[in-house]
Amino acid sequence: MAELRFDDQVAVVTGAGGGLGREYALLLARRGAAVVVNDISAGADDAAANVVEEIRAFGGRAAVDTHSVATPEGGAAIIDTAVDAYGRVDIVINNAGIVRDKSFHNLTPDLLDVVLDVHLRGAFYVTQPAWRLMREQRYGRVVFTSSSSGILGNFGQSNYGAAKMALVGLTRVLAAEGERYGLRVNAIAPSALTGMTEANLTDFVGDLAPHYVAPVVAWLAHRDVSVNGEVFTSGAGRVARFFIGMTTGYTNPGLTIEHVAAHIDEIRDETGYTVPAGPADEFAAISAAARQAAATQDPRPA
Ligand code: NAD
Repeated sequence: MAELRFDDQVAVVTGAGGGLGREYALLLARRGAAVVVNDISAGADDAAANVVEEIRAFGGRAAVDTHSVATPEGGAAIIDTAVDAYGRVDIVINNAGIVRDKSFHNLTPDLLDVVLDVHLRGAFYVTQPAWRLMREQRYGRVVFTSSSSGILGNFGQSNYGAAKMALVGLTRVLAAEGERYGLRVNAIAPSALTGMTEANLTDFVGDLAPHYVAPVVAWLAHRDVSVNGEVFTSGAGRVARFFIGMTTGYTNPGLTIEHVAAHIDEIRDETGYTVPAGPADEFAAISAAARQAAATQDPRPA
């Protein structure tokens, strides 16, 4: 296969001063993209500027941005940096993140807000100004960063997990809205040893270096990406897909509490599950099941 490249394309990677984001920025730049390397700069910490230097050292194109994703003004300024430096935006990789873990009974509103602001609202604030440009140019690639902490649930991460699963919803909706404009929107649920996870992933046996995830994100950002609205999990060189499946279920026009209780195994049975592409597929399944139940003269006894 010919090398997949990003020449003449402009990418924005948030939270790219270290960890996963740095790897995404380096790979895209190595493959020809001009990259806006965003990260908040706390005090003397020039993480984003250092990544820009790394990119320029191998002859790549990069511009630094130190706005926070967590405000509408910050998000707009990040996209302005791309437009001012390179005249357009083709790719937005929403990667910036923080954790503020606390078991739910101890969670305080400030710990909720700060996590929602960076992960969830930040994804809106950065993506929306880019989206408007992408829609007009009828081309764009957006990657959101979800997490198994939300998709599967992880102890002590109600704020983070809720934000990360919300990003799956955002991915699905924007994939539907952007399709006809040539936009593609997908999500990554990464696993990597970074500043964020070094305290939690110590039991893992294997190499969880963040660079393993970058090819997956880069393909999701590529012109040739063949998927839209999907969620991929990646770490240690493995890549797989998470999806929302729906069981065949149980249908009874006279449904009672007792029916639900008696048929819970059938309701949950994964045999013959489907993966609805959108709400229309779910409604089609509901009406087909209802028609079939009516034809077989339910209500059945519990
Ligand atoms: P990391 O801490 O190394 O990188 C996150 C970066 O985001 C940091 O450099 C930080 O300065 C930056 N950032 C934080 N707040 C910001 C803001 N308001 N504006 C701009 N930048 C900001 O962690 P990482 O593991 O590389 O995480 C990258 C993304 O992947 C995050 O969204 C994280 O939630 C997600 N994630 C990581 C893992 C993993 O195993 N590492 C698992 C699931 C999800």
